[in-house]
Amino acid sequence: MVFEQVTKMGHEQVVFVHDRETGLRAIIAVHNSTLGKVQPTGVRASLGGTRRRVYQNEEAALNDVLRLSEGMTYKSAAAELDLGGAKSVVLLNSKDEEKNPTEREAVALGKAIERLSGRYVAAEDMNVTEQYVDWMAEVTKYVIGGKTRAKGGDPSPYTAQGVVNGIKGGLAYANGSSDLKGVSIAIQGLGSVGEKVAKIVAAEGATIIITDTRKEKVDEVVAETGGTAVNPDDILAVECDVLCPCAIGQVINDDTIGGLRSRIVAPGANNVLDKPLEHAAELKKRGVVYCPDFINNAGGVIRLGGLYIGMSEQQINDKIDRIEPRLIEILKNAESMESTYHAAYAYAQERIDAAVERGQAGPSAEGRVGSSKTPQTIGGL
Ligand code: NAD
Repeated sequence: MVFEQVTKMGHEQVVFVHDRETGLRAIIAVHNSTLGKVQPTGVRASLGGTRRRVYQNEEAALNDVLRLSEGMTYKSAAAELDLGGAKSVVLLNSKDEEKNPTEREAVALGKAIERLSGRYVAAEDMNVTEQYVDWMAEVTKYVIGGKTRAKGGDPSPYTAQGVVNGIKGGLAYANGSSDLKGVSIAIQGLGSVGEKVAKIVAAEGATIIITDTRKEKVDEVVAETGGTAVNPDDILAVECDVLCPCAIGQVINDDTIGGLRSRIVAPGANNVLDKPLEHAAELKKRGVVYCPDFINNAGGVIRLGGLYIGMSEQQINDKIDRIEPRLIEILKNAESMESTYHAAYAYAQERIDAAVERGQAGPSAEGRVGSSKTPQTIGGL
């Protein structure tokens, strides 16, 4: 079963990790390293966060790591980063472990990552903090996003700036101007990304409508920005120029898609479309401009990936600025395609194909992304 799936999706390497001393169970998946910068060890680097969580069963964990690593190949390729796509998951036994990571566990995972000689570079994802990254960094140099041993830190300010650039790209495409003055923007979720997006766009003159399940956070952001609060259940159907979901995935689904009343959807969250290709096509039919999430929210991966491969702060910021013109290009390309999602994947695939043509093939079958050309999940960072 594993080989059937891996062959279909085109993964280069899947490693099952068991550490006898700590009981760690983890899976590391390197999807496609074609675009990865060559490490001093001679292998190409692929980046993707580490996700720690309780899974229903082993199959669910394997599916998660395979799909998320495939998504990272496309996310980095579309962001024009010299990195392949990978991911790791840690299979936990209890909810309590999710919130209480230990140094022992992180070190055990770090050792497994080190053994891959740089093929896989880890970073934050669900239940992985800067501290966890720094613990891994005690035993491996193939991590990014820590505070002390590993560099990078919290990527969310960069993600948020990228999302704002994406919003501007959507506006420039739809209205001919990226000016935020007087534009109404509805933001779902005021966490690390959403709160920052709210403050930036409000400072640039947008009218914001906001929500979060944490009422105290909503009150705080209303006080600071003058935004209007609505109930979490009402945000998706708010009439506005731009809807910016920054909370959780799959919020645009069969039940909610018909109620949207925004002209543009520009997400910060990953996987906001429950069925990405289908729902993106549906949005196109309804005349909604959908800015694909993995193009819009790539600021974090550009920051951490860029630092890892040695880009300067200036180069990183320039690349985050590129999100706006890239989106406009993708949205234009999408006019002759089924949806903006199809156009975004095609944009990423072109870069991978061009690298293969240059002879820069990774060790996967012909160095190409696997046969499932249109992955449905983009996760992390
Ligand atoms: P976070 O946990 O800090 O924030 C999420 C916020 O959403 C919280 O304030 C939570 O209370 C709120 N929320 C949850 N469910 C809600 C609901 N139903 N209605 C309204 N509010 C709700 O997470 P984050 O780091 O800000 O990330 C948000 C999303 O962006 C995630 O999908 C994440 O994968 C994605 N993302 C984050 C980064 C990053 O740099 N942090 C990068 C790329 C993508």
